[in-house]
Amino acid sequence: MQVYKFGGASIKNIEGIKNVTQIIQSFGAKNLLVVVSAMDKTTDRLQELAFAHINGNETRHEILESIKDFHFEIISKLFTDTKNPIYNDVANTFVEIEWLLEEDAEDAPDYLYDQIVSIGELVSSKIIAAFLNQQGTFCVWQDARNYIQTDNNYREANVQWEKTTNEIQKHLPSYLEQGIVITQGFIGNTSENFTSTLGREGSDYSAAIFSAALDAEKMTIWKDVPGVLNADPKWFDETEKIPQLSYRDAIELTYYGATVIHPKTIKPIQNKGIPLYVRSFIHPAELGTEISSEATTPPVPSFIFKVNQVLLSISPKDFSFIIEENLSHIFAIFHQNKVKVNTMLNSAISFSVSIDNDELKIENLIKDLSADFKVKYNKDMELVTIRYYNQQTIDRVTENKKVWLEVKSRNTCQMVMKNL
Ligand code: ASP
Ligand code: MG
Repeated sequence: MQVYKFGGASIKNIEGIKNVTQIIQSFGAKNLLVVVSAMDKTTDRLQELAFAHINGNETRHEILESIKDFHFEIISKLFTDTKNPIYNDVANTFVEIEWLLEEDAEDAPDYLYDQIVSIGELVSSKIIAAFLNQQGTFCVWQDARNYIQTDNNYREANVQWEKTTNEIQKHLPSYLEQGIVITQGFIGNTSENFTSTLGREGSDYSAAIFSAALDAEKMTIWKDVPGVLNADPKWFDETEKIPQLSYRDAIELTYYGATVIHPKTIKPIQNKGIPLYVRSFIHPAELGTEISSEATTPPVPSFIFKVNQVLLSISPKDFSFIIEENLSHIFAIFHQNKVKVNTMLNSAISFSVSIDNDELKIENLIKDLSADFKVKYNKDMELVTIRYYNQQTIDRVTENKKVWLEVKSRNTCQMVMKNL
């Protein structure tokens, strides 16, 4: 069996939905599990709705109405028979949010967020399943919350692997024998039976969990790009598709900030040796990128940009060396403030790090560090990571820039820089 994952961009309108159903139908009539995200930017809109509710803002009713309108507009075009049960099914799903919005937002914000934001995937998967069935392709809609079991760390829930694997293996194979199974990405279920989410863009991860538990032959993520590119077209003119990547390189690239795949996706499929394909839903006949244990094609230099970086330089006030004791104290302060270090370098009496510019967090971080250290900082920096670098690629990205910090390992070069 195989697993397909479709993101929000692939199902943003009726043409998209029709295209996706064709890709599914060309696979065959059974032994395919399809994981879908919310349509288009629905999760962003639901997130606005959740924040409006949490802050007691009356705009929440308008936001909900516009989300409903968007979905019912699509439904009315796909299902001309207004007696089709999908109309009621989707309306009832939205009623659950309406009930929640009627009450004061007294529960924990992260809990409320997950109850609201999870609706996007429920609705999109119902629409796609109903549309496939209307077209005569038998498919079974399954609630991912019956399978993906998590703790109650809402908004970034941790998967309970054993329970999850058991549930998947117990029930899904018999459905897969009967037809196509459609389920949701991103959402899970806590042991108290509340809905949780796995973190933004988490649908790739859901697909990897299902793939691993079902020992899928392959997993495919369908995207609006031809595959994994060697740079984000947002920052780079000449990008090229990487035909093959090792799991190791894929994990390194996503760790450094390549957004093409969710970083948690690789581990479960690597552990089971399942190949992952990233392919274009616009050109479904093309091969895309294959991610597996070994790439046979030579590595392509890849570039990952992070803008809006702050470069901090931290030195002990008493001129003592930066040694293990100081470092563990510094890292404890970063950890307490939930600040992630993007790159770092130390000298005898100074320790430099590049971090995302999150004003709220940085203010507290600097305050805490300043008790024992002298802290200097520079804003508006860019961090570029080059995997499989050479002098030519370094020259290319540093043109008209001043490099403030450079860290090199055998395969990876990171530079923190600013416009000249
Ligand atoms: N719909 C969710 C999000 O936008 C999950 C996903 O798309 O992967 O974050
Ligand atoms: Mg998405």
